[in-house]
Amino acid sequence: MVLTETNLVLEQLHRHTAGIASQIFAENIKQDCAVPDPARPGTNARVLDLQQLGESVVVVAPHPDDESIACGGLIALLARRSVVVNVIIVTDGCGSHPNSSAYPPARLAKLRAAETRLALTHLGVEERRLWFCGLPDRFVPTEGTPGYTAAVNQAFGLIYNLRPKTLVLPSAKDQHGDHRAAAAIWRHAARLAPNPSWMFEYVVWASAEELGVVPTTFELEIAEVLPLKQRAIAEHRSQRGLVITDDPDGFVLPANLLARASASYEIFFQIL
Ligand SMILES: [Zn+2]
Repeated sequence: MVLTETNLVLEQLHRHTAGIASQIFAENIKQDCAVPDPARPGTNARVLDLQQLGESVVVVAPHPDDESIACGGLIALLARRSVVVNVIIVTDGCGSHPNSSAYPPARLAKLRAAETRLALTHLGVEERRLWFCGLPDRFVPTEGTPGYTAAVNQAFGLIYNLRPKTLVLPSAKDQHGDHRAAAAIWRHAARLAPNPSWMFEYVVWASAEELGVVPTTFELEIAEVLPLKQRAIAEHRSQRGLVITDDPDGFVLPANLLARASASYEIFFQIL
């Protein structure tokens, strides 16, 4: 019941924000900024003990595909252990192909949601555990800008209702503005909500320099579920240049990022 009420709020918010994503992008995302293994220090990484994460985990993804790229192995391993995993997709994903006539924002949002649902079937997450916040892609509000408080309230509602023992967030140091903004919103909400016992963050778009010094790095061996993760990533066909052909500026996941996502481990930074 509580989750249904939350879902209604999300749907209302999604309707409210549905038209905003057609705006011109405020920021050009460098598509080649990922570097191989930027987060792997090699010396002080600790093995992530899945048992410590508890019986309920929430994974927050700024865009549809980040959940699979950065956390697909984690999600699949947790699902295999019957841990309740809820996946939150922060933005509507409309920013990847802004000039497409065939896929205007509303249609693109539906496509990306459908791709995410398929991805999560490979990872073992039921559709009822997938949540779309519907914030405008590439315009996730930052503190002091319109929509920020509403976004924090929305995140608070999800944390309050889902009560995760562990929260997995995008990195506050990621190069992508949406990732940093989503990190700020969810860190803010986590401070207000009943605190999860653990919080981790992950990097998708990063350079080694910008990662800086982190308190604790965890490495998760995902070899046993890597094929599932790769199938999940493959479901995001629109981000691989396989669906939308009428936008020359359309986003395509760069090869080096996909190569990094095919590693047999995932990296997480502990922030709580
Ligand atoms: Zn992203």
